[in-house]
Amino acid sequence: AVARTFEKIEEDSGRQIEEKTSTLSSIYSKCLTVSICSILCCLDDLLCCVYLCLNQLGPAYQGLELGVGETVLMKAVAQATGRQLDKIKAEAQEKGDLGLVAESSRSNQRMMFAPANLTAGGVFNKLKEIANMSGNSVSTNIKIDIIKGLFVACRFSEARYIVRSLAGKLRIGLAEQSVLSALSQAVCLSPPGQELPPAVLDAGKRMSAENKRVWMEEKALILKQTYCEMPNYDAIIPVLLKEGIDELPNHCKLTPGVPLRPMLAHPTKGIGEVMKRFDEASFTCEYKYDGERAQIHILENGEVRIFSRNQEDNTSKYPDIISRIPQVKKENVRSCVLDSEAVAWDREKKQIQPFQVLTTRKRKDVDASEIKVQVCVYAFDLLYLNGESLVREPLSKRRALLRESFEEKVGEFVFARALDADNTEAIAEFLEQSVRDSCEGLMVKTLEKHATYEIAKRSHNWLKLKKDYLEGVGDTVDLCVIGAYLGKGKRAGSYGGFLLACYDEENEEFQSVCKIGTGFKDEDLEQHYNFLKEHILPKPRPYYRVDQSAEPDVWLEAVQVWEVKCADLSLSPVYKAAMGLVDPEKGISLRFPRYLRIRDDKKPEDATTGSQIADLYKKQQQIQNQGEKQDLEDYY
Ligand code: AMP
Repeated sequence: AVARTFEKIEEDSGRQIEEKTSTLSSIYSKCLTVSICSILCCLDDLLCCVYLCLNQLGPAYQGLELGVGETVLMKAVAQATGRQLDKIKAEAQEKGDLGLVAESSRSNQRMMFAPANLTAGGVFNKLKEIANMSGNSVSTNIKIDIIKGLFVACRFSEARYIVRSLAGKLRIGLAEQSVLSALSQAVCLSPPGQELPPAVLDAGKRMSAENKRVWMEEKALILKQTYCEMPNYDAIIPVLLKEGIDELPNHCKLTPGVPLRPMLAHPTKGIGEVMKRFDEASFTCEYKYDGERAQIHILENGEVRIFSRNQEDNTSKYPDIISRIPQVKKENVRSCVLDSEAVAWDREKKQIQPFQVLTTRKRKDVDASEIKVQVCVYAFDLLYLNGESLVREPLSKRRALLRESFEEKVGEFVFARALDADNTEAIAEFLEQSVRDSCEGLMVKTLEKHATYEIAKRSHNWLKLKKDYLEGVGDTVDLCVIGAYLGKGKRAGSYGGFLLACYDEENEEFQSVCKIGTGFKDEDLEQHYNFLKEHILPKPRPYYRVDQSAEPDVWLEAVQVWEVKCADLSLSPVYKAAMGLVDPEKGISLRFPRYLRIRDDKKPEDATTGSQIADLYKKQQQIQNQGEKQDLEDYY
């Protein structure tokens, strides 16, 4: 049933997101109803299904990852099916998906006794067992044996998805938000063990379609917000089944040691837009430091942990930050969660260094005595203090508590520089100053109204104001590479250009937005070629939207995000970004895009979205048509 669901989701990509969600929700419901005998069975089945859909083995922050190498997988396929390794290799190259090769090879085998059918839980546990093995040759052989054991029991398309899952490349075009919606739908519509009183169930049945939709969205929001604060299904699903969705916030709370999803920022065109958007609300402008997000957790037992923007554990990357925490925190702080930016810092010159310098720092297991690139922490938020979550408090209060709870230490731990201004001139001046002080621009945040840290409710609560936007020299956007064009002349033998896409959250698809060929240094091109050639696809993923006329020479897996600057945006019959949002038939493309850098901290799904591209386009039009002053009147 899981494999069939995956097939259906792959087939459905490009259709309405609701269809995907309901396909997914029905398998979750099945877990709930089939295992009605006991909540424990439901729990186990449901958890395994959710993780299988996400191609994860547990919470992302625990770092247990699948990623069995192609060679090992090919050997296992060969041994399980009795086919020759060379043949498997050749076929995998041709089809570009070892999963399909495994699926079609399956029928060649003859078994004396048919093995038992696979179960979701059985497969999940095997995947976990494999991921837990360390990489010596003995364990490789054991791994191959386990994988073989799975293959011989595979039916239908199971082998395809098991291979892809093992490689850590399930990629059926399913975003976590759909999984959360589907989960809440399943739990609301098929409550486990029918625990809801009949009156509630009846009410659910009697609701009009519109009321039901609103009701479902409210419930999904509870789950999504809980997940932001406690991104761990092992903790959430048991409560969901036992207590119901409404009780979630009372049981699954923000906890130091568990990274929460960070608040993100929305690009804006200029100070005029900021004033319009925030209207009467009081707000603050902070320097936008160009470093790496660092969510610093102090646990009750005194331990300090640091997490990245993607909830990866960066604790061993920053022993220097860890060791300075006891000196900067005040005595009354027993536990807390801080939001901050770690920025490369030149101790001699006492100044901020560019982001590129930070990227040269070792990523793991750093020895404090060998650190060459120093960092200064710029703290800008406090999300938890001494046993209490602060995410529902306004920024003004969180910031006051932050400043009361910590002490600054020059070059080591400093509060983000802020100005609570309300007039355009002062903000313009502050923006100029931020750039002179080696920052990217400003982050603008409301202080009282809509100023909580509830990510699921409004994911783009903060506005970013970069110098580039003001100068009118173009926008920077973060785009995903999905294809490459073979180089000519000086670039022969490598890639000369690339096809970029934005990510459309509505449809969960990558939409082509431009070709890019400028801004690359020779080293960049070499680096991209070496990295991307490992991610070639024989054909585009079903969730790529690309016009035939823009098809690249080589299709690439969406694995890397680049920051790109463009002169302006225009309507395009060829490119698909934001299709239907501005024009019913045309998409939007970037003109004269120039490559800036790789954004390692962004996942493909974190790329600039279709609706953001549409916004940028509309704002540009408005500015062109009506001049800067009048600009956003109609639009907002
Ligand atoms: P971007 O990645 O360009 O969308 O910008 C958002 C990022 O800016 C955040 O994820 C932080 O890592 C970083 N940042 C730098 N300074 C601040 C600040 N004062 N407030 C919030 N985020 C900041």
